[in-house]
Amino acid sequence: MVNGYVDLRSDTVTQPTPAMREAMARAEVGDDVFNDDPTVHRLEEMAAARMGQEAGLFVASGTMGNLAALLTHCRRGDEVIAGDRSHTITSEQGGMAALGGLVPRPLPNQPDGTLRLEEIEAAIHGEDTHHARTRLVTIENTHNFVGGVALDAAYTRAVADLSRRRRLKLHIDGARIFNAAVALGVPAADLVGGADSVTFCLSKGLSAPVGSVLCGTREFIAEARRARKVLGGGMRQVGVLAAAGIVALQTMVDRLAEDHANARRLAEGLAAMPGFVVDLSRIQTNIVFFDLSPDVPMDAPEVQQRVARQGVLLMAMGRRRFRAVTHAGVTAEEIGRALTAVAKVMA
Ligand SMILES: *Cc1c(COP(=O)(O)O)cnc(C)c1O
Repeated sequence: MVNGYVDLRSDTVTQPTPAMREAMARAEVGDDVFNDDPTVHRLEEMAAARMGQEAGLFVASGTMGNLAALLTHCRRGDEVIAGDRSHTITSEQGGMAALGGLVPRPLPNQPDGTLRLEEIEAAIHGEDTHHARTRLVTIENTHNFVGGVALDAAYTRAVADLSRRRRLKLHIDGARIFNAAVALGVPAADLVGGADSVTFCLSKGLSAPVGSVLCGTREFIAEARRARKVLGGGMRQVGVLAAAGIVALQTMVDRLAEDHANARRLAEGLAAMPGFVVDLSRIQTNIVFFDLSPDVPMDAPEVQQRVARQGVLLMAMGRRRFRAVTHAGVTAEEIGRALTAVAKVMA
């Protein structure tokens, strides 16, 4: 439960654990713009180690981390290849164009969350003066809007090889990279092999109140620190937040398996109910997309409202589609309760 609801809108609704609050209260801090905050340094080192990268940069959000990465890798007028359903394209206000002068080049996300290698290859512009120069490819793992699907290490490695060969940078939006790692049973670093940078969120399934970490080479991170500052992300005694992030990395990664089991429970329950269509093959981590069948007279916002009156929060995404996300604030028993509430509304 979160604030009295079985809240399945997002894993961002997770609350800091008691251990996080304690660590926050006790955190040793300094002015992080002066590079003086030891707790931030600790988090950044831990994060970089988990990602197999040289250095890390604590940022306010995943959006800020992705934008700081793109601003650092690219110059104004450069083109960025990204999935058409990626968070960067659909849900970051076009920041790369609006604030960075970068040209988005969306390619179709496949049902498994990938971009086709041959489509990436075909989209790359060279030095012809008609074209924006292609500078970077970004992929997302897990892929949120394709259904929380996990991209495996071999695919990422193939994109990294292609990028290197064609002199492009590769950025991974790993907002939920630990969900992918847990689902695939590999260390997160294996899913970042060959990438030039990666961001991951502390504030989603890992339950920290604030923040993401951008990781890459030492040289890249030194430049990204400048980008973070111009975006207004230079924070001062921010070790109070980093302290929660450290606890998140130490205590909240392995338990993600529980969220994945709950997502499966939820998806199977919904699939067994009349009125819904669920693609169970896409239920790989903690995200469950499902649709109203054509014969249901209610639309998704109405179902959402009625289910909310039963104490369960879903997210309607358009007229016929929902997203439900499992997380540390929802138990297996509460998944049962959510299914009962939904069945009542659909009856
Ligand atoms: C949540 C999310 C982000 C970043 O979101 P913030 O709310 O800015 O932290 C980036 N990418 C993906 C795939 C996400 O799901």
